[in-house]
Amino acid sequence: MTGRVDGNLWRGSSAVRVEAPPLTANADADLVIIGGGFTGNAAALEAARRGASVIVLEAESVGHGGSGRNVGLVNAGLWLPPRDVVAQMGQEAGLKLVGLLADAPRLVWSLIEREKIDCDATPNGTLHLAHSAAGLRNLEERHRQGVELGAPVQLFDARETARRTGSRAFHGSLFDPRAGTIQPLSYARGLACAVIRAGARLHEQTAVSRVERVGDHWQVMANGHKVRARSLLLATNAYFNGIEIAVRPQFVAVNYCQFATAPMPKPLRAEILSGGEGCWDTALVMSSFRTDREGRMILGGIGDAGGRGAAVHAGWARRKLRQVYPQLAGLPFEYSWHGRIAMTSDHIPKIVRLGPSAYACFGYSGRGIGPGTVFGTRVAASLLDGCENGLPVAPVDNHRERLAAMRAAYYESGAVLVHASTGGYA
Ligand SMILES: Cc1cc2nc3c(=O)[nH]c(=O)nc-3n(C[C@H](O)[C@H](O)[C@H](O)COP(=O)(O)OP(=O)(O)OC[C@H]3O[C@@H](n4cnc5c(N)ncnc54)[C@H](O)[C@@H]3O)c2cc1C
Repeated sequence: MTGRVDGNLWRGSSAVRVEAPPLTANADADLVIIGGGFTGNAAALEAARRGASVIVLEAESVGHGGSGRNVGLVNAGLWLPPRDVVAQMGQEAGLKLVGLLADAPRLVWSLIEREKIDCDATPNGTLHLAHSAAGLRNLEERHRQGVELGAPVQLFDARETARRTGSRAFHGSLFDPRAGTIQPLSYARGLACAVIRAGARLHEQTAVSRVERVGDHWQVMANGHKVRARSLLLATNAYFNGIEIAVRPQFVAVNYCQFATAPMPKPLRAEILSGGEGCWDTALVMSSFRTDREGRMILGGIGDAGGRGAAVHAGWARRKLRQVYPQLAGLPFEYSWHGRIAMTSDHIPKIVRLGPSAYACFGYSGRGIGPGTVFGTRVAASLLDGCENGLPVAPVDNHRERLAAMRAAYYESGAVLVHASTGGYA
């Protein structure tokens, strides 16, 4: 099924529907969750399956944030290579996070299977593509570090990379068979349906306006009604909006835009990413490539497709497609959309303690499918058990990002400059 809805391909092609009426009365629960993306829904599912009463409040509709706008790469690990994670966090904490996130795709694939989520799950691996000789050296180092930790990653030369991608633009690639692709909005909606089946209450069109501690409970105001709960999870990531709360999540907002072509003709589908791998490259201002069920090529890059640089990003996408895939030069783009990534300075996701039995999880820095699922699941368990040992990162009382607005503008103008001057790799 395909239909155009606000330019976001995932909205047009998702067959999963969620029934979640707005909140219309005061309510009580063990756990209240703000935000209906991967993190909030994974947390709600875990808590409801453990027998807790759970209420999820979503300002718009499930997947309105990053979860319904992303590329759909189910990656193992973070952007940072394992050594850098350990350098940031220390040996024990770093290796714990690396280990948990290496296993994140397995958790995602198993949830999809258990809950029978119709989200085009394609666990056929990802290719990290070397855009230059230096990019290949970077992949060689990532390969070395991965192998050291027992990851089943493989380094491919330019020839094998060309055979798999159908493009001669790359110097080589790093293949990760643990990873793959999904239709991200369908995954978010499928999780939400599982949440409802597990007995939790989910309310869309329910914007939270205030969160406060009242006595020994959390009190959340939404749609003019009160929700009281023993525990609280703020799962709004880059889409935090309009909430009066003592501790606000801090991050740098970075935009990422995507362009989907009309379906490729059959012979080209057999030539281009026919194995279904999802791809991104080693460039500083990175690009991503993947196909969907209908054989569309989906090209992505840093930048705000709805902002002042929109024309530059659209022009870049045209040139980039022509340079990486000359075979597709004549194919029109039928969808374009963008979303906000919550970046942290050290690229490590954060868990911030908001008070007794309350956390905010955010800052996945563009890697939120696996990490959001892992963080949501583990935070729910911790809130119910009252024990922080299982959390992927140690919670902090606050997290500050200096000059966040200025750094966000810097990322956007950098992307505009690069996209104005180039389409492919010199
Ligand atoms: C364009 C793009 C591409 C990406 N590509 C990938 C990728 O390929 N692989 C990957 O792993 N990650 C990717 N990411 C990152 C990933 O999408 C995010 O990290 C992830 O979706 C975060 O999930 P979440 O549930 O924490 O937050 P979100 O999905 O952003 O959900 C937050 C929700 O909170 C709601 N909310 C906000 N304020 C309120 C309020 N006042 N009251 C109630 N609800 C509220 C919002 O409406 C929103 O639905 C990408 C992100 C973007 C934007």
